[in-house]
Amino acid sequence: MRRVSVFGATGSIGCNTVDLLQRQGGGDGFHVVALTGGRNIALLARQARALRAELAVTAYEEFLPDLRDALAGTGIEVAAGNRAIAEAAARPVDWTMSAIVGAAGLEPGLVSMRHGGILALANKESLVTAGDLMHREARKHGARILPVDSEHSAIFQALQGEDHAAIERIILTASGGPFRDWPLERLHEATPEQAVAHPNWDMGQRISVDSASMFNKAMELIETHEFFDVTPDQIEVLVHPQSIIHSLVGFVDGAVMAHLGPPDMRGAIGYALNWPDRAPLPLERLDLARIGRLDFEAPDETRFPAIRLAREVMRRGGLTGAVFNAAKEVTLDAFLDHRIRFTDMAVIVEKVLETMDRHHDLQDEMTDLQSVLAADAAARKRTTEAIASHQANRG
Ligand code: NDP
Ligand code: MG
Repeated sequence: MRRVSVFGATGSIGCNTVDLLQRQGGGDGFHVVALTGGRNIALLARQARALRAELAVTAYEEFLPDLRDALAGTGIEVAAGNRAIAEAAARPVDWTMSAIVGAAGLEPGLVSMRHGGILALANKESLVTAGDLMHREARKHGARILPVDSEHSAIFQALQGEDHAAIERIILTASGGPFRDWPLERLHEATPEQAVAHPNWDMGQRISVDSASMFNKAMELIETHEFFDVTPDQIEVLVHPQSIIHSLVGFVDGAVMAHLGPPDMRGAIGYALNWPDRAPLPLERLDLARIGRLDFEAPDETRFPAIRLAREVMRRGGLTGAVFNAAKEVTLDAFLDHRIRFTDMAVIVEKVLETMDRHHDLQDEMTDLQSVLAADAAARKRTTEAIASHQANRG
């Protein structure tokens, strides 16, 4: 029986993954090794019972007693803390879902690749902050990283059976988010509540705000560069408000392959779960006649500077991705706390990238996980300072 673990099981991607595991037999179809979550202990316990997991882990030590109570008498092991999550990743499995949000998702993904096997990668921060390291570990242990982000799954599917040398360009689609047609003056005043209301996709809070600011697309540009080994110039962004075309690949002969589907992450998760086969998935079937039309427009990098910043990050390489991601996460927290404005996020991230480059704060070599975590920590400190001085200047 296939052994599987889900990191970030209680999140948006995690719940969809658990749903698919259940539809494909649950504890009878899979041997579920570890499920991990954060604060949502009741849900984690429910999932662990339903799938008869070996082990349930919460990221937070203070929730261990609750988790223990919730799973008392089931025989399911419990544990807490980041160490325990990394230890859970060290238990051998054939298939791992990496769906913890943020930089915290990096280590469990890296550790799980030591068994070879498949790493279904939703956590986009892993490739953005530590692409070199992820690839090195995968090669070393014969692990296979499969994309779960919908765009990258689309590209991956469009590339099946194709020769890498035949790729001319990759066209990454973007919904444009809830502020797609907002003028710049209005964007300054956008609130977190408005930013989380994504028109098409139902996602976690942080990634929803990242979609509104296009930092999500910026991360995905870097992710594309890392996943498919194409140059930054080969990647284009296309705004497509209906989110039906998940991305496209253009080949040297001028042909373009597009991947279409309803906006439901279970498509990409299910593809990674069943790869290299396809299995029936509970997705709404696409009815193009009903949809009627698909629209496209070029992205506006003046209102959404994150795209431009991503190109800069790819140009610099090394640990710049770790700095970019950390600065983005810290400014996102500040925006969610109403400490800075929506448009301040990109301004501050750009400033942090510039000052860290100028001061040569970055060790260029991505030697190991520690070098990535050090860059992440340094960038968080710089960003916190930059936010404070930004607030002081605004008085
Ligand atoms: P959610 O916020 O919905 O879920 C995050 C998961 O991680 C939850 O299980 C949460 O636990 C857990 N978690 C939170 N903080 C920590 C931490 N410090 N340590 C360990 N676990 C933690 O996120 P999403 O499911 O939306 O996204 C997960 C990843 O997938 C992200 O990297 C995102 O960018 C990526 N992704 C998401 C897509 C989507 O449609 N949602 C699409 C493409 C990529 P709890 O909730 O119990 O506190
Ligand atoms: Mg995506």
